[in-house]
Amino acid sequence: MKGECLCGAVKFEIKEQIRNLYQCHCSLCRKTTGTTANAATLVRAAAFCWLMGESKISSYKKPTGFRNDFCSLCGSPVPNRLEGTGVVWIPAGLLDELVESRVAVHLHTKSAAPWELDSAECIRIDGGPDSVDTLNQLL
Ligand SMILES: [Zn+2]
Ligand SMILES: [Zn+2]
Repeated sequence: MKGECLCGAVKFEIKEQIRNLYQCHCSLCRKTTGTTANAATLVRAAAFCWLMGESKISSYKKPTGFRNDFCSLCGSPVPNRLEGTGVVWIPAGLLDELVESRVAVHLHTKSAAPWELDSAECIRIDGGPDSVDTLNQLL
């Protein structure tokens, strides 16, 4: 299984089956991704390797220890070796091949953004809206 960031400068490969995915709804993951929840999986460090672009990775660490590694060219979150665990955190959106696993666990749902809660009720359209007016008229 291969994956890459938005610009393609950072590429990696996972040499084991992707197991269950999870989505974290905590406020840190919301800031990191700019969206409702951070979809990810965890793989063994021994099964993970960088193919290119490791030198393009920047890292931000909060005083609490929460760390976000990202491509310094395009800003995509990138895999992050979790210190002392032997495990690598993989942002699911970077995976480029067919992922047969599905999101199985939602974490930190108590901190979910209130605007997220009704997402199951949302209107779903195949593509993007033609304009802001079109989007607003859907409601
Ligand atoms: Zn990039
Ligand atoms: Zn989180």
